[in-house]
Amino acid sequence: MNARECLIRGGRALTSTGLERVDVRVAEGMIVEVGPALSSGAGADEIDATGQLVLPGVFDAHVHFNEPGRAHWEGFTTGSRALARGGGTSFVDMPLNASPPTIDRESFAQKRAAGEAASVLDFALWGGLVPENLDRLEELAGCGVVGFKAFMIDSGIADFPGVDAAVLRAGMKIVAGLGLPVAVHAEDSALIAARTAAVRAAGRRDVRAFLDSRPVESELEAVRVALDLAGETGCALHVVHVSSPAAIAMVAAAKAGGLDVTAEVCPHHLLLDEAAMFAHGALAKCAPPLRDAATREALWREMLAGRVDCIGSDHSPAPADMKQGDDMFAVWGGIMGCQHGFLLLLDALDDMRLPAAWELVSARPAARLGFGDRKGRIAPGFDADLIFIERTEPREITVEELRYRHPTSPYVGRKIASRVARSLLRGSEVPLDAQGLPSGGGRFLSRIV
Ligand SMILES: [Zn+2]
Repeated sequence: MNARECLIRGGRALTSTGLERVDVRVAEGMIVEVGPALSSGAGADEIDATGQLVLPGVFDAHVHFNEPGRAHWEGFTTGSRALARGGGTSFVDMPLNASPPTIDRESFAQKRAAGEAASVLDFALWGGLVPENLDRLEELAGCGVVGFKAFMIDSGIADFPGVDAAVLRAGMKIVAGLGLPVAVHAEDSALIAARTAAVRAAGRRDVRAFLDSRPVESELEAVRVALDLAGETGCALHVVHVSSPAAIAMVAAAKAGGLDVTAEVCPHHLLLDEAAMFAHGALAKCAPPLRDAATREALWREMLAGRVDCIGSDHSPAPADMKQGDDMFAVWGGIMGCQHGFLLLLDALDDMRLPAAWELVSARPAARLGFGDRKGRIAPGFDADLIFIERTEPREITVEELRYRHPTSPYVGRKIASRVARSLLRGSEVPLDAQGLPSGGGRFLSRIV
């Protein structure tokens, strides 16, 4: 279907007033009218959404698609198709796993071109903030990045080093002047180094040793430092993949104190606890790591209580051979989850909780990164980025359905009861099943309008 006029009838759509039985009219790729029993225009296509939820597509502000340079890990083609199956219509790619990493104008241009050639979804890009590129942040802002990602600990990628507090302070001073946020991976380097040295000296390489080497305290210490720097520099701060309710509380308190700070959580920290790492090993290794069951449940309650700002997948793939071995410190980290994480969250949300929670994957991240007037809502004037959800009988997630380049995920075998029946990007059908279709169709979303 082309992006001509269409009328979506019969579904329950998520609008600013909640889930309601309304029709949605789309023209020229945009939502132009929302209301009950809209009249059909001459020649307009009609989409029957009876029995389906019509939701704004996921704006996933945190993926690692690894292109250019590491497309053999994932790439824009497989990554965007997997995310489309999982309800995504836009994403923001992180700067570190591409080779070269996205730390200057030249590397930005390479990544933008790769995304425009291959992505089936709209996309924006984070720039990197590393010790060597403080003099390139302004040019990256001029390229249209949504903000800058920094690691307060080793990133695992040699050409994307972490920053200490002094470099982060200097970077945040510059970025404050550019009017963009800095996103931080917040874990305390010194504390984790000491813990890691202790367990490794004891000859431990097992799951428990890895989990113990990255305690909640290290997240809290790094968040404290980042919040102090946000206050000192006036820079907007976005703390990614927060794993503990205590860190959410610190961010909420800082926000109440007037700081421009937001917290992201990830589906895996809401859906999985450390038992998953004992069951799946490296497939469930991430940083910060999965927490104990009580922490996961408390994080879920924080999310439902409205103290979380957004939910991003942190989809972080790697070839299978990098996930093998018993040394949990040596195997590559990262959870492959963008195809199922959002849908599994949806399974857990009833009609009362769904509206506020779904904003955390759509309107809120879009607004935080500068697209609050175009993406993430079903309202006139917004892009017609719509997903049609069917609630189904529970079924097991299979390896065969995974669309990642490397079809593994800790969610395989888990029961799921939601599926994306259809997806529209700016009014055009997103290919969900057609493996043979050409890639592309997604547009680069510039922060600069
Ligand atoms: Zn990440």
